[in-house]
Amino acid sequence: MSQIYDRVAYIGLGLIASSMIHAGRRAGLQRVIAGTARSAGTRAIARQDGLCDIVTETAAEAVADADLVVLCVPVGAMGAVAAEIGPHLKPGATVTDVGSVKRAVIDAVGPHLPEGVNFIPAHPLAGTEHSGPRSGFAELFDNRYTLIVPAGEVDPVALAKLERFWIGMGANVETMEPDHHDLVLMVTSHAPHLIAYTMVGVADDLRRVTDSEVIRYSAAGFRDFTRIAASDPTMWRDVFLNNKDATMEILGRFIEELMRLQRAIRKGDGDLLFDYFTHTRAIRRGIIEAGQDTADADFGRGRNRDKGGA
Ligand code: NAP
Repeated sequence: MSQIYDRVAYIGLGLIASSMIHAGRRAGLQRVIAGTARSAGTRAIARQDGLCDIVTETAAEAVADADLVVLCVPVGAMGAVAAEIGPHLKPGATVTDVGSVKRAVIDAVGPHLPEGVNFIPAHPLAGTEHSGPRSGFAELFDNRYTLIVPAGEVDPVALAKLERFWIGMGANVETMEPDHHDLVLMVTSHAPHLIAYTMVGVADDLRRVTDSEVIRYSAAGFRDFTRIAASDPTMWRDVFLNNKDATMEILGRFIEELMRLQRAIRKGDGDLLFDYFTHTRAIRRGIIEAGQDTADADFGRGRNRDKGGA
């Protein structure tokens, strides 16, 4: 891959930004990387580690002269960041984001961007439960999907460049409409996180199960829930607050399904349970066949880096 942008600016230097920086360097996708983060601590780490070529004190300074600006902050912070950088963007620049929710980000960011700037939201479907500038790695996006979610009419040249940028970082790229994105992601990522948070909360509440037993015997299922439930609290608070409609819709359906299974168990309806679990097993096989997970019995834990994502 060769250089796509001259200067790329990252606002927010956590897991996703640092992974993009490593992946972008691996493929030589930009000449200069500028970056900034909210706290002095994160900026100091970025300087110390040489994460960016230039670390600025403010977002306004970071975006000056940038051809691509990537917003990598929690969904609830996107609007305020856009308001800060809006007046300082280079004409013709592309602004993108990596937020896990798209409609709310489009509504929050769009109004702050001046004429002549291309706003092309995106969402990489890759992540881990870790956060911060030292949690990123170049392989995070390899063979994972990044959804490009245009908010209306976009310049086809700017769109093609952003697609090439993500492909250069190892991703498979698809475009999707914002509301559809929010519903699909609610099913595939957001609701499972909510269920994991709840399940771990339930185990914590069950005084019958001592702490040591929960930890010692957490092999089956529960351990995966605890990993998901360790995800960043700010990020996930913002995901649910900004994807309320889809959350309500999917939670309603989830509760109906749960009650169906509850009824089958109460009535001893083994056929229903067997058919249900046979169907869900086929869904798991489909994911493995699509190359989006491993069939290893340990869920690929040996690789030490899960790429569940949000
Ligand atoms: P992260 O590791 O927690 O990093 C977040 C960054 O945003 C940090 O640099 C933080 O600055 C900065 N930040 C936090 N609150 C801010 C505020 N109010 N104003 C300005 N900056 C702020 O998060 P991440 O996992 O990279 O997530 C970033 C975005 O990617 C989120 O929108 C998330 O929805 C999306 N995403 C996450 C995943 C995932 O699995 N983690 C996957 C796909 C997409 P400090 O370090 O100074 O606090």
